[in-house]
Amino acid sequence: MRLDLLAIAAHPDDVELTCGGTLIKMAKRGYQTGVLDLTAGEMGTRGTQETRAKEAAKAAKLLGVRWRESLGVPDSDVQATRQSKLRLATMIRALRPHTVILPYWEARHPDHYHASALGYEGCFLAGLKQLPIEGEPYRPFKLLYATSFEGMPPSFVVDITKVYEARRRAILAYRSQFRPAKSERKQRVFLAIDELDARMDLLARHHGQLIGVKYGEPFLQKELLAVEDIVTLPVRSI
Ligand SMILES: [Zn+2]
Repeated sequence: MRLDLLAIAAHPDDVELTCGGTLIKMAKRGYQTGVLDLTAGEMGTRGTQETRAKEAAKAAKLLGVRWRESLGVPDSDVQATRQSKLRLATMIRALRPHTVILPYWEARHPDHYHASALGYEGCFLAGLKQLPIEGEPYRPFKLLYATSFEGMPPSFVVDITKVYEARRRAILAYRSQFRPAKSERKQRVFLAIDELDARMDLLARHHGQLIGVKYGEPFLQKELLAVEDIVTLPVRSI
């Protein structure tokens, strides 16, 4: 297999919330896309591991990804351990993604910033010849960081206006997380659907506005963007 784009994140539903629109848009362009969830999200307050796996599979269909699996790292204990890095490197060698989306490297939830480090180190190690794992040495060409929730100035924003509704459906595939039973609705532990909707709308609108469109998803890259033709640069200045 050779993926064009692989999104790696700590929990099922993380990629839907941070870069789901971009995954849908790239799949529609004909790229082979995939998602690697580091954990199965088994520490979530609601929903069993089985339910969450079913929801992740349903969301994968809605995202149009060709491949989705879980690395099996324990939820709430994501760390860049040697064992996890080697497992991730083995997957990178098997999937050979050209571009990898990682969570931004600072976050409130420790799993998210550890997922960023684990993702980076797994991608790096995958290119080392002497590594004691199977597969041909390989390193992704490009690493991007999804910054939706972190408020960092992004390097660029992807216009997701046309796929915003599709992304919303993929997020809502996680019924156990966002569509609680009636008896649970007054509890404070979950993000109720209307609140989630409002928050997602606000974030996507904010990022869209930065590039003059309705909805956007922000990304950061550590390198600078190179420009070949300054006459066709997008986004109106005045
Ligand atoms: Zn998460």
